[in-house]
Amino acid sequence: MFDSSVRTLVVVGAQWGDEGKGKLVDVLAEQADWVVRYQGGANAGHTVYVGEQKTVLHQVPSGILHPGVRCAIGNGVVLDPAQLFVEIEKLVAQGVDVVGRLYVSDRAHLVMPYHKQVDGASSASKAIGTTGRGIGPCYVDKVARRGVRVLDLRNPARLRTLVEAGVGHANEQLVTSGSALRASVDETMAFLSDVAPRLLPLAEDVGLALSNAVKARAALLLEGAQGSLLDVDHGTYPFVTSSNTTVGGAATGAGVPPTALHAALGVVKAYTTRVGNGPMPTELGDALGEEIRRIGNEFGATTGRPRRCGWFDGVVARYAARVNGLTALAVTKLDVLDTLPELKLCTGYLVDGELLREFPGDLGLLERAVPQYDVLPGWRKSTADARRWDDLPGEAKRYLYRLEELSGTPIRYVSVGTRRDQIIDVKA
Ligand code: GDP
Repeated sequence: MFDSSVRTLVVVGAQWGDEGKGKLVDVLAEQADWVVRYQGGANAGHTVYVGEQKTVLHQVPSGILHPGVRCAIGNGVVLDPAQLFVEIEKLVAQGVDVVGRLYVSDRAHLVMPYHKQVDGASSASKAIGTTGRGIGPCYVDKVARRGVRVLDLRNPARLRTLVEAGVGHANEQLVTSGSALRASVDETMAFLSDVAPRLLPLAEDVGLALSNAVKARAALLLEGAQGSLLDVDHGTYPFVTSSNTTVGGAATGAGVPPTALHAALGVVKAYTTRVGNGPMPTELGDALGEEIRRIGNEFGATTGRPRRCGWFDGVVARYAARVNGLTALAVTKLDVLDTLPELKLCTGYLVDGELLREFPGDLGLLERAVPQYDVLPGWRKSTADARRWDDLPGEAKRYLYRLEELSGTPIRYVSVGTRRDQIIDVKA
């Protein structure tokens, strides 16, 4: 996707997350100089296969698997340092060269042990179905201006003041939720004095480094976590994550100007999945939903939770295309539909007798939405070995043409399996 005019590319999930962004980023990273995470934290879980070797990355950008590519964790990410070190150690054990290639924004906020305690104890977190990794409480502290940033590790006095405020607030929350747990200033400071010497060598003014890279016409790939429908502003609020997952968040979360973003690739599964609670109009609560879950191995990479499965939702895709300004689509997991005799694509929602074609902000409308479907024949052949558009069965092409039409965005990639080589570049 990179060429002389596209130097900065954003890859975003255009559904509710788990679309297979990790694989696309891995494939595209080959052409990139930098791969950057811009929001979310250890709640993201990208799975990348190189040959038969499976690597699950939570915080380190997937570009790390490509020698020579520089990887950055932007200011918009909330960083779990202990988890980051575990991930780095695993990569090093696999022979991946991490040293000197991974940079962490000195403005990124740190997920503290007390954020995890609060997340685990909060009934609100349970109702939304969060991953319980302290992400939400960390973003709350960021907005409430008591967050701890990586650069605060350089200033012990300021660090202590911030930790005192954070611990005080966390303990109020723990008392309110009826938890017996309590956070401690001394224990938190001990944790941070352990973290500092390992994290500070990675700390960098990432926004500056990336802006310089943009000026030098380097190829930048900005990697979104979760999906557009989980965006705190544009998603199915309140069943959303705490950050801007969409392309706007890429600029603020990486520290590069919005005018430097040239293209946006939206990743969608050939069907729909969602983890946790909240509306999902095309959900299949029956045996077919179970079958898609089984074939697609739809269980969370981070939590192991079963994902809710359903038909492709064209209303969602078109909405994501608009909010993100998508310039192309990557359709993943087409192979999962190989055995189904008949496939449906949602074209609109019937709500109280009215046909809705635009995704509504009001969850009440979504809960009453009756999806309207186009029904297409399945192809009932394996697509796993397709490497060019013309290798695909006619019915699969027809399905993808309709998906493209409903999304209003041209398909550039079709993924037909977990491996790196199982991908079709429609333009190749
Ligand atoms: P991400 O967070 O968007 O990167 O998505 P995840 O990694 O959580 O989930 C995607 C899962 O689907 C991973 O296990 C991938 O290996 C797998 N996957 C990606 N593309 C394909 C595909 O085309 N076919 C199949 N069968 N699996 C795929």
